[in-house]
Amino acid sequence: MMHDFTYEALPVRVVFGQGKIQILPQEAERLGIKRALVLCTPQQVQWAEEVSSLLGDKCAGLFHEAAMHTPVDVTLRAVEYARSVQADGLISLGGGSTTGLGKAISLRTGLPQIAVPTTYAGSEMTGILGETENGIKTTQKKPEIQPEAVIYDVDLTMSLPAGLSGTSGLNAMAHAIEALYAQDRNPVTSLMALEAIAAFGRALPVIAKQPDDVAARSDALYGAWFCGICLGSAGMALHHKLCHVLGGAFDLPHAETHAVMLPHTTGYNMAAAADVMDKVASALNAPNAARGLWDLARSINAPRSLQELGMPEDGIDHATDLALRNPYWNPEPLTREGIHALIKAAWAGDLPLQA
Ligand code: NAD
Repeated sequence: MMHDFTYEALPVRVVFGQGKIQILPQEAERLGIKRALVLCTPQQVQWAEEVSSLLGDKCAGLFHEAAMHTPVDVTLRAVEYARSVQADGLISLGGGSTTGLGKAISLRTGLPQIAVPTTYAGSEMTGILGETENGIKTTQKKPEIQPEAVIYDVDLTMSLPAGLSGTSGLNAMAHAIEALYAQDRNPVTSLMALEAIAAFGRALPVIAKQPDDVAARSDALYGAWFCGICLGSAGMALHHKLCHVLGGAFDLPHAETHAVMLPHTTGYNMAAAADVMDKVASALNAPNAARGLWDLARSINAPRSLQELGMPEDGIDHATDLALRNPYWNPEPLTREGIHALIKAAWAGDLPLQA
């Protein structure tokens, strides 16, 4: 077999396990942080206060305004606050929104970051930052955006509601699936992607029934770590493009849109990327990859159709136009007929056409 690839890893220290939040003070010390600014959303203030007391006199303050899509006005307020308390490091405690705020502050101040993720979004493992200003979202990718250290503590994910756990997990799996057939795929991320798909395939049905199953939670967080690396390391194709288009045009919820679309976009690419799709099917113990993802989504009661997420039926033509407007690489060439049929099936909640 001939091998041909480029592999680049961003330096990051990862500590994973139950109760690992306890070692936050040591991790801060490793990075020379003596005046940490703790970041969170308004919903997670109590958690952030506990983390602040863990840090004791190494905590300089708490900023609790992290919000979806990293609004620049929030970031600028946080930068001002960080300067006013002379913070010398950032602790981002929460999901992708909080991690995004930490990245945005760090980019403007150079402060080191420790991310403590509490969802499966995976942002903590990427050098990607999406920000919004005046309703416009811009995304940039730079090595210095990547947090220096990440603490994965399964205890902090136990309260993630069952429904959100499922859609957040399917959203993460989409990064792994697309990394497997990306133009810049490489053996390291491919191994991680398959490991992550198998872990989520095992964990999500258990979490849907018993959200307090700590072993399943640990498996899911482990999968999320790998999926984050996949997102940060490999280029994304049809699936991410379609979700971006649909979310933007019809204001659809992010993780739920990924959950509905993933079996369909996987089906679209199943013949063109047959070798990797066979491995996905094996990882999910399914007859084929699209069917495996479809069955997984049904088993955890994830949203089934774009219709139920609020997309109007007469938007299918418009979405097809938007998806085809800026051509981009995808294993299966994009045809108007094929993309239209895919979106139509996803809108109606039908089984993927190729499953
Ligand atoms: P989120 O961070 O917005 O969190 C959603 C809600 O869940 C918040 O209210 C939060 O406080 C709450 N929450 C978080 N963890 C919880 C827990 N364990 N228990 C109970 N409630 C909890 O959502 P998200 O899906 O993690 O992140 C979405 C954002 O991250 C989007 O803006 C997305 O664009 C971004 N993102 C960025 C990257 C990247 O690489 N730049 C990657 C993935 C996602």
